[in-house]
Amino acid sequence: MPTIEELATFCKRKGFVYPTAEIYNGLSGFFDFGPLGVELKNNIKREWWKTHVHQREDIAGMDGSIITHPKVWEASGHTAHFEDFMLTCSKCGQKTRADTFLEAALKIKVEGLTADEINEQVKKHKLACPSCKSSFKEVQPFNLMFSTMVGPKEESSAKSYLRPETAQLMFADFKLVAENARMKLPFGIAQIGKAFRNEISPRDFLFRCREFEQMELEFFINPKNQGCPFIDEVKQHSLFVYSEEMQKTGEEHKKMTIADALKKGVIKTEWHAYWLATEHLWFASLGANPDHFRIRQHVAKEKSHYATETWDLEYEFPFGWKELLGMANRSDFDLQQHIKHSKKDLSLFIEETKEKLVPHVVAEPSLGVERAFLVFLFDAYHDDKERGNIVLKLSPKLAPVKVGVFSLVNKLNDETKKVYDLLKKDLFCVFDTGGSIGRRYARADEQGIPFCVTVDFDTLADKAVTVRERDTTKQERVKLSDLKLYLLSRC
Ligand code: ATP
Repeated sequence: MPTIEELATFCKRKGFVYPTAEIYNGLSGFFDFGPLGVELKNNIKREWWKTHVHQREDIAGMDGSIITHPKVWEASGHTAHFEDFMLTCSKCGQKTRADTFLEAALKIKVEGLTADEINEQVKKHKLACPSCKSSFKEVQPFNLMFSTMVGPKEESSAKSYLRPETAQLMFADFKLVAENARMKLPFGIAQIGKAFRNEISPRDFLFRCREFEQMELEFFINPKNQGCPFIDEVKQHSLFVYSEEMQKTGEEHKKMTIADALKKGVIKTEWHAYWLATEHLWFASLGANPDHFRIRQHVAKEKSHYATETWDLEYEFPFGWKELLGMANRSDFDLQQHIKHSKKDLSLFIEETKEKLVPHVVAEPSLGVERAFLVFLFDAYHDDKERGNIVLKLSPKLAPVKVGVFSLVNKLNDETKKVYDLLKKDLFCVFDTGGSIGRRYARADEQGIPFCVTVDFDTLADKAVTVRERDTTKQERVKLSDLKLYLLSRC
């Protein structure tokens, strides 16, 4: 696996991701996606939407506004509490996020520490500013929301916020979506969109940025009916589990089936277990290595006040095991907060029992698109010494470009262009005439193009082309009349 720095260099060289506005030296925590990056990102989002919305009867989608009514953030608690602790250098003034700094310096898990506990650790270990080595001031909370003014007014009533998560709009619009989509419990609402956090220390390339996208799902249930009808589909699925107990006793994570984790009470509810397995399987179905993942339970200290149980799906990045997706059991906290602040009825009428109730969110899979983007690239990246180039073994479903169309010699370019024109209506292809055929194959490997089609002199006679597979370099002769269907089925 490459380091995060090597991956960032590769991404820039190949046109996946650039620091934003690089001609002005970039802006920390913001990135631009190039020609290949925008395709990969769109493909990840499309696959997520397909499996989480289109292929399910029990989930409806929505798309909320980015600048959100300030009352939404008051109700959710973000205005008051969406904070990280910040250490400020007493001499040069550099600001550092306290928990990640302590974690890196002391090699311990520090999530959930109070301000006093952080100050104590800083003093005890004589921690100093990473830039000028001077002492730190007392730790301060820092709210991560970006604020803005709406309309041509300056007064505080015009203040609003760029959303720091997509989730709250799914609660604020809950009743409308449920009624419009004629949903019956249990059901989910899904959303993909931008989120903004004024991170104190953006770092590790796309891992922690200030503008990113989330793919989130709120899954609502009737609290009196906790059973998951789909649990049998995932019971035999196994994955690495790192429970609160294992973290306390210093045990390693261990592989378990979902059935075992439920039987032993490691995961409390069937729905939570179902969604954890489903998200893990989603990554595996798109080519990620399932053994690079584990589910880690939040220990009591780091759990949010509203959550009854929280698990993270973590991935083993080259810089350690890190959160890829968070999944809290939020109970009815958010809907109750919005009921209280908006004074609107957000309960649902349950036909069977003829009662009104406020549903509970049993699981909230919340996944950052940029972190998923990194995971797929890390697992696809192969430095092939024999070929002398990087081979990006992305699943054909995610590959930015599906087919490279080449002519063996320039003389055949007109014939080749006809093949390209035939394919481009249904598959995103490139028509590459630059350099030797070997050079073009190498370029295609590095772009993650799963199939290359070469037109040669025999094509004129046998009306067939050579199709080369990226991962095996195996070549196959395919009739022009079958080519489109063949490639569509393989992609
Ligand atoms: P962390 O502990 O890493 O700051 P978090 O617990 O604050 O993450 P959540 O609020 O649970 O993150 O957000 C859900 C998901 O959104 C995360 O699992 C991650 O994939 C993504 N995400 C959150 N913050 C960022 C960020 N700054 N840059 C990129 N992705 C992010």
